[in-house]
Amino acid sequence: MKVVYVDNNATSRVAPEVLEAMLPYFKEYYGNPSSMHVFGGQVATKVNEAREKVADVLGADPSEIVFTSCGTESDNAAILGALDSYPEKRHLITTRVEHPAIGNLCAYLSRKGYRITELSVDREGRMDLDELRESITEETALVTIMYANNETGVVFPIEEIGEIVKEKGIPFHTDAVQVVGKIPIDLRKLKIDMLSLSGHKLHAPKGIGVLFIRKGTRFSPFIIGGHQEKGRRGGTENVPYIIGMGKAFELAKAHLEEENTRVKALRDYLEEKILEKIPNTLVNGDRVHRLPNTVSVSFEYVEGESILLLLSGLGICASSGSACTSGSLEPSHVLRAMGVPFTAAHGSIRFSLSIYNTKEEMDYIIQHLPAVIERLRDISPFWKDYLKAQGRA
Ligand code: PLP
Repeated sequence: MKVVYVDNNATSRVAPEVLEAMLPYFKEYYGNPSSMHVFGGQVATKVNEAREKVADVLGADPSEIVFTSCGTESDNAAILGALDSYPEKRHLITTRVEHPAIGNLCAYLSRKGYRITELSVDREGRMDLDELRESITEETALVTIMYANNETGVVFPIEEIGEIVKEKGIPFHTDAVQVVGKIPIDLRKLKIDMLSLSGHKLHAPKGIGVLFIRKGTRFSPFIIGGHQEKGRRGGTENVPYIIGMGKAFELAKAHLEEENTRVKALRDYLEEKILEKIPNTLVNGDRVHRLPNTVSVSFEYVEGESILLLLSGLGICASSGSACTSGSLEPSHVLRAMGVPFTAAHGSIRFSLSIYNTKEEMDYIIQHLPAVIERLRDISPFWKDYLKAQGRA
């Protein structure tokens, strides 16, 4: 069966070069990097080379890179590490559109007595920087604001946010899980203290993440154990995956240009054709400050889940909101925060591309999607009511 995979913000294919780089570390080089003997030592050297590759892409120092098990762990480590470092401060600032790795942790912290400020977004998914300025208090332990949204691709003004937060002397963490390889990150220019990343969004395997911790940032480990990662994350390093992560970063750097030209052009083409061919369709989020691979579209008066099911039958793999919200009948919290009308929020689909997509695949989607939407609208009572109100039925 033909498969057109356009769900890369959920997870991405492991690059063949990444797999190739990892294999020797399952077979020949299985030493523990902490061992004193030569067999461990050579593995430790390779782990540090991978760390250097990650640091190089981010504009960081290798000593500021901590390998974790996933983006969620990095987010948890950053937030809980900051709260533990400033026990007297009980206030946290975040946004209403974060991934559940942040959102659900904040909800948990709220139940534990922390005060959480969730900043709002406008209809385009943009933040109000004055609202951020006004919410920072003496009590604030950390500001955590995502770099780019996983559902809409909207990119927040991280440079300005960093300036505002650091001016007040507050630690700043950003969840940049969707960003590496799509737009450049230069930590030399950004006032970010901690930044979370995940391998499986950039063609490394699932189960490897990174937490950047800027030198001088107060931090206490989330996973307490051995002295690995300079005491910032206990547990024997996942060597093959770390090697794969290093390779994936090297490839992300090499493919950045292609993401912003060819992949962006494919996304724009898909978006344009959808809007042209299907009536009552809208794009969610700021179309300028947006990741080059992502488009969130709402098809009014139909159910996102039904669209996904019919697309899936045609081999087209997309998503309705984030992977974690699909399966629930509630419209996505991101679209709700943006004030997308109920009739449109329910019928939202996210297409997220990668360098492995082709024009022919976009044409395949464009060829089939209009009929899918038409078929669902034909059986939608909301669509019938809409046509009646328009005097068209
Ligand atoms: N943060 C964002 C913005 C994400 O999109 C995701 C995954 O979808 C995560 C965090 C969680 O990353 P992981 O799946 O590696 O735990």
